[in-house]
Amino acid sequence: MDQVVDADFYELEQLLDADGLAKVTAVREFMEKSVAPVINHYWTREEFPHDLIPGLSRLNIAGLACQGYGCPGGSSLVDGMVAMELARVDSSIATFMGVHGGLAMGSIYLCGSDEQKQRWLPAMARMEKIGAFALTEPDVGSGAAGGLTTTAQRDGDQWVLNGQKKWIGNATFADHVIVWARDVADNQVKGFVVDGGTDGFTAAKMRDKIALRVVQNAQITLHDVRVPEADRLQQADSFRDTAKVLRLTRAGVAWMATGCARGAYEHALGYARERQQFGRPIAGFQLVQDLLVRMLANVTASACLCVRLSQLQDNGSAKDHHSALAKAFCTVRMRETVGYARELLGGNGILLEHQVGRFVADAEAIYSYEGTREINTLIVGRAITGIGAFV
Ligand SMILES: Cc1cc2nc3c(=O)[nH]c(=O)nc-3n(C[C@H](O)[C@H](O)[C@H](O)COP(=O)(O)OP(=O)(O)OC[C@H]3O[C@@H](n4cnc5c(N)ncnc54)[C@H](O)[C@@H]3O)c2cc1C
Repeated sequence: MDQVVDADFYELEQLLDADGLAKVTAVREFMEKSVAPVINHYWTREEFPHDLIPGLSRLNIAGLACQGYGCPGGSSLVDGMVAMELARVDSSIATFMGVHGGLAMGSIYLCGSDEQKQRWLPAMARMEKIGAFALTEPDVGSGAAGGLTTTAQRDGDQWVLNGQKKWIGNATFADHVIVWARDVADNQVKGFVVDGGTDGFTAAKMRDKIALRVVQNAQITLHDVRVPEADRLQQADSFRDTAKVLRLTRAGVAWMATGCARGAYEHALGYARERQQFGRPIAGFQLVQDLLVRMLANVTASACLCVRLSQLQDNGSAKDHHSALAKAFCTVRMRETVGYARELLGGNGILLEHQVGRFVADAEAIYSYEGTREINTLIVGRAITGIGAFV
């Protein structure tokens, strides 16, 4: 009997044009050849593989969906499939790119003036400068829309920032950190581009995470940090503008969750064909096939949903609730899928050398960041009922 080996079961890659397919293929090759063999080493040590940045830069995928300003300028579909390919091998590298190319570059692209985009985006697209995105605070996570306590006070043609941020990916080494703070004058959230070495800015690495250990998350302290008005994102006047960035990146996280699930499924399928028990490959047992098909169904349903979301983004009709539904659905399916994969590998499922254990751990972070399942559910619930149920 012929084996269908491709986890792209419904052949969604056929929707890509030749350039898009070439990009996705190049990302796949880079991840399999340059990242897969080394990533457990960095994961174990909680270190970031800085020497992979030139290779990632050559892929020309940072800020992929941004047009102009030295950015690659691809479709949302290509951007999404690239995110899936990254996470298919490693969710930390996918997250690093999501924070840099999505959250940080996306903030400048969606909320910056033309001059600011010209000033910052080209070097970030080349990955000569790396970005971070600082919204969450030690005491304010899900409630960021109304609860930010970091303050911004205007002082002539400067702003003075004070407060703390938590969980900020890439922040230990980022060149540009997008800091979201509440303007004490009008109580609205505004965005500021703070350079890593600025006086009063410190980023302390968070240690001992059990997920995404390669991502360098930091707790940031801002103590009378002075930022010129020229570095305030000129098109960000309230949290509504921050939400535009999250709409973009939540779609990317849904694709990433699909990639994480797909990678775990592929490892599990390979393992099931090799591993022998009772004198035959475990892939020949009905209950093992049940696990594999459940995984494949999750991956396929998630990928189809993401494709349609990307199409809505590309035709300009995607709304917050579309991204929120995809983020919530795909992360739930991911969590289930990596669990099935681990189950299928038996004891080897908890050994890093078999990869699936890393997928299980990393999935926990993807499940919670960029809006938990509950918060994304409430965004969709508000859209379908017309009644906000956040508090
Ligand atoms: C690995 C990692 C990387 C991250 N990177 C970044 C980053 O780069 N930049 C950044 O700004 N942030 C980042 N975050 C923060 C992330 O976005 C938050 O963790 C997330 O928004 C949830 O906030 P919280 O962890 O404070 O949980 P909380 O808001 O304290 O929520 C705890 C629980 O309560 C539930 N809950 C809260 N409110 C409600 C409600 N109204 N109804 C029902 N349930 C509710 C939540 O769903 C959750 O289950 C990162 C987080 C992680 C784990």
